[in-house]
Amino acid sequence: MNQRLVKLQTWMKENEIEVSFLTSSENVFYLSGYYTDPHERLLALAVFQEEEPFLVCPSMEVHDAKRSGWAHEIIGYSDIENPWELILNSINKRIHKVSKAAIEKEHMNVERYERLLSLFPHASFVSAEEKLRMLRMIKDAQELKIIEEACALADFAVQFGASEIKEGKTELDVLNALEYALKQKGVTEMSFSTMVLTGANAASPHGTPGGTKIKKGDLVLFDLGVVVDRYCSDITRTVAYGDINDKQKEIYDTVLKAQLAAIAASKPGVSAAEVDLTARRIISDAGYGEFFPHRLGHGLGISVHEYPSLTETNQLIIEEGMVYTIEPGIYVPEVAGVRIEDDVYITADGAKVITNFPKELQIIK
Ligand code: MN
Ligand code: MN
Repeated sequence: MNQRLVKLQTWMKENEIEVSFLTSSENVFYLSGYYTDPHERLLALAVFQEEEPFLVCPSMEVHDAKRSGWAHEIIGYSDIENPWELILNSINKRIHKVSKAAIEKEHMNVERYERLLSLFPHASFVSAEEKLRMLRMIKDAQELKIIEEACALADFAVQFGASEIKEGKTELDVLNALEYALKQKGVTEMSFSTMVLTGANAASPHGTPGGTKIKKGDLVLFDLGVVVDRYCSDITRTVAYGDINDKQKEIYDTVLKAQLAAIAASKPGVSAAEVDLTARRIISDAGYGEFFPHRLGHGLGISVHEYPSLTETNQLIIEEGMVYTIEPGIYVPEVAGVRIEDDVYITADGAKVITNFPKELQIIK
């Protein structure tokens, strides 16, 4: 049994949970090593305190699941079979009563919940999500190695995108060029829809790239991430096209100062809130507090947003092994939008920055 399953089983014993029935691709992958996006079909992993766990997937994927290294039972079902009967059979072979089951309450839909209710009419259902978030929050050496690879590709993408900025090109021209270059390097998936935003568009933290042409004197914001072996990276850089004005420069310098301070503040033993506030105070003191409308950062791993959440109220303590983003921003409508985002890994000594594209303002001539 792998260590991740053992940790889940320990939690189940402590909480008298007879079965965990997990259904999200991310958590099934984390615990089983098998990743699939089954679309509307059912994917599930059933874990017991002592008995052998089993995986449920479409029968056409059973071979892939075995090849991924899952050595326990796999229940494959065809498009004309009812997987719930097979599931009930397999559970009954292992345990005789379910009084408490853990499910992913935020992920499971009502239809599946009702199926489980009919299988276990006397069970109460608790959420497995918080436990899995806490387990996934601390990365092992292998996970870190993969995330670092994903970060190196994100660095490359920003560098390539910056080199594509030219008079008359649009946001989408630059975006397409950088994603094409990534695909030529074998990248098949981005962590989220890539953002290339310029001028007034960059003043929206979650803007949508379009046909806006990049002009001299504009800032260009890149926010992107690359998926490697199911793990995400996430980087933001804001570069200048030609000379920018003093206001844009002041905003840039303020964000950079806040970002560097938050990296320095990131170490085991401090709270997530303290890290957020370190950056937030600098931005507020410079008079831009109302223009920094989001949290400082978020954990990342199999999902692009995971624990820890770096908000000004989260008292969670930073620990060795966490991977998270530090991404302060200032967005002044019609003036400028600047965000600088790095991914960091927490060691005993503090934060190691694992995205490496330069942060001194890059001026594209
Ligand atoms: Mn980002
Ligand atoms: Mn982010």
